[in-house]
Amino acid sequence: MDILLLGPPGAGKGTQGALLAERLGLPKFATGDLLRDAVKRGTPVGLRAKAVMEAGQLVSDEIIMGVVRDELAKPEARNGVIFDGVVRTIAQADGVTALLTELGRKMDHVLFFDVPDQEILARIEKRRGIEGRADDDPAAVATRLQAYRAQTAPVLDWYRSRGQVHLIQAVGDVKAIAATVQGIIGR
Ligand code: ADP
Repeated sequence: MDILLLGPPGAGKGTQGALLAERLGLPKFATGDLLRDAVKRGTPVGLRAKAVMEAGQLVSDEIIMGVVRDELAKPEARNGVIFDGVVRTIAQADGVTALLTELGRKMDHVLFFDVPDQEILARIEKRRGIEGRADDDPAAVATRLQAYRAQTAPVLDWYRSRGQVHLIQAVGDVKAIAATVQGIIGR
């Protein structure tokens, strides 16, 4: 089963994705985590992505599609994947759909985590104190939100026009939100 998690930065895709991945026994795949790891290890992808990420902008579709192709080729991805923050542009939506089609698969569920702006800003500020991510400083956060609105928000309509997207009010208790997700997926 392939599941896509959409939503603004700080919407809790990572937290809910991890719970879902464990419950379904599927790998969770987050481009943000993979890119941060590539930066830390100084790989060619990391070297290309570092400055763009720190500024809060989107990494190129070409880099992302390379990363997605590699992840989907792994044996552990054969039964499906939880895509966390992977599709952030229309070009990526097209690209990921094509890759899944090649494998005889499709996105079985698309979940959109909805969180108001004020709550997002408060969550990221809190995370900044804990994780110290370079792109959690106020200027980079503003850029990330701008990139989200301009490039990623249209992805929601792209999926909507092709099938059902589940809207989840992602404010409140983590367990209650997880229960909502479980209700939608059916397990
Ligand atoms: P957030 O979603 O909270 O902004 P992530 O950890 O998911 O944080 O992503 C961090 C950064 O990694 C993004 O700001 C962007 O630079 C890059 N990134 C991650 N996924 C993508 C993607 N699918 N397309 C383009 N850039 C991406």
